[in-house]
Amino acid sequence: MATEYTCITRKIEVHLHRHGDSEEAAQRLKEEYRIWDEINDNLYKAANRIISHCFFNDAYEYRLKLHSPRFKEIERLLKYAKRNKLTDDDIKALKAERKELFAEFKRQRQSFLGGSEQNSTDRVVSHEFLDVIPSEVLTCLNQNIASTYKEYARDVERGVRTISNFKKGIPVPVRVKRNGALLLRKREDGSIYLSFPKGLEWDLNFGRDRSNNREIVERVLSGQYDVGGSSIQEAKNGKRFLLLVVKIPKESRALNPDRVVGVDLGVNIPLYAALNDNTYGGLSIGSRDQFLKVRMRMAAQKRELQRNLRVATNGGHGRKQKLQALDRLEGKERNWVHLQNHIFSKSIIEYALRNEAGAIQMERLTGFGHDRNDEVDEGFKFILRYWSFFELQTMIEYKAKAAGIEVRYVDPYHTSQTCSFCGHYEKGQRVNQATFICKNPDCTKGKGKERSDGTFEGINADWNAARNIALSDKIVERKKK
Ligand SMILES: [Zn+2]
Repeated sequence: MATEYTCITRKIEVHLHRHGDSEEAAQRLKEEYRIWDEINDNLYKAANRIISHCFFNDAYEYRLKLHSPRFKEIERLLKYAKRNKLTDDDIKALKAERKELFAEFKRQRQSFLGGSEQNSTDRVVSHEFLDVIPSEVLTCLNQNIASTYKEYARDVERGVRTISNFKKGIPVPVRVKRNGALLLRKREDGSIYLSFPKGLEWDLNFGRDRSNNREIVERVLSGQYDVGGSSIQEAKNGKRFLLLVVKIPKESRALNPDRVVGVDLGVNIPLYAALNDNTYGGLSIGSRDQFLKVRMRMAAQKRELQRNLRVATNGGHGRKQKLQALDRLEGKERNWVHLQNHIFSKSIIEYALRNEAGAIQMERLTGFGHDRNDEVDEGFKFILRYWSFFELQTMIEYKAKAAGIEVRYVDPYHTSQTCSFCGHYEKGQRVNQATFICKNPDCTKGKGKERSDGTFEGINADWNAARNIALSDKIVERKKK
């Protein structure tokens, strides 16, 4: 049974494995890097050769059409069928004949190529590159290029574009699975490597692993996740990365496509979630006070270190340690934000699943220095400065995808100044950061409880905004064009 799955790509730094401390091991490593460099130096040339031949094969067939007078005549007759007073039967006969000719051109093309399309390009590059590029890599490359070329071959024929031009540094396609057997393996000491042709072993280096890569790879090793066509790419700075394509099965849950979770990135609290078809409830995630407390503490530590650094300007030997401490602190800060985002995004997905919501809607971020609404929102700016909402949205997006929940972005205009019950918009309805009171005299639900003196308690402003986001049909792209 074919299960539905989502593909994600994970970027993991890799190094060639050093087999021990001996001089021989050092020599072997050197030789293996030489092999790798040679692959990199030649792969883009092979790619260019393949694509040229794909194009040439098509052009050959085009030439056959061009050189067939009968084919051209049929085309002309059919083009002006009315003027030529063709009957339906005439047209049918001509089309059948054209089909015959097409088949004939295909046959001629085949015999000219001496086999299938892929074989023909394969032969071209094998002939030239097999001694420097492993055949497995060449085969993958050939498949990848042929299939992407097919997607735009029509555009090339119409003259809308030309064929791609490959430059040094293109990803080297790698197999993570061969004949059903996983090529990712774990050593006794727990290290994980990818086995590559010519006896090369790529050690996976997870580093600080803020994106949870190790866990995902462990799941691949345990068979929980499958893998797709992956590659190793050498970056400009000389680092090498495995671009691992992981297939995560979609959990089949009965989700209601009409139920939408709206997520408000708030001022008082980092996140507020509400449903579009529910007039109570909602979920607040994270606390601003706690958030500010941690940030302030970190900022104070940083200031202290920076002050110490300024005092010890003339490069005393404590300086290096202090700089390192500052680096560590900044790393800690980033990690903390990252971890919070993981926790928050997880809560949102859990909330959506608990309510069987089929979609999550969020506001498109308007960026720094701008206000979500037409009013100055100093608090929001402050939070934005210290919080990676973009990262948070990205996490929500991929976690939702894996859970089978759709993610949409909506225009952020007026979401916090509009009543989510009656739709009334007026400035000043958000009476303070926490409270919203609808000014529409006929609206009852948007005002909250009435006090004994005839004034209203109002409703939770973040909840109101989250509901508006859930109800919005102003769907936009994530990024402004
Ligand atoms: Zn109202």
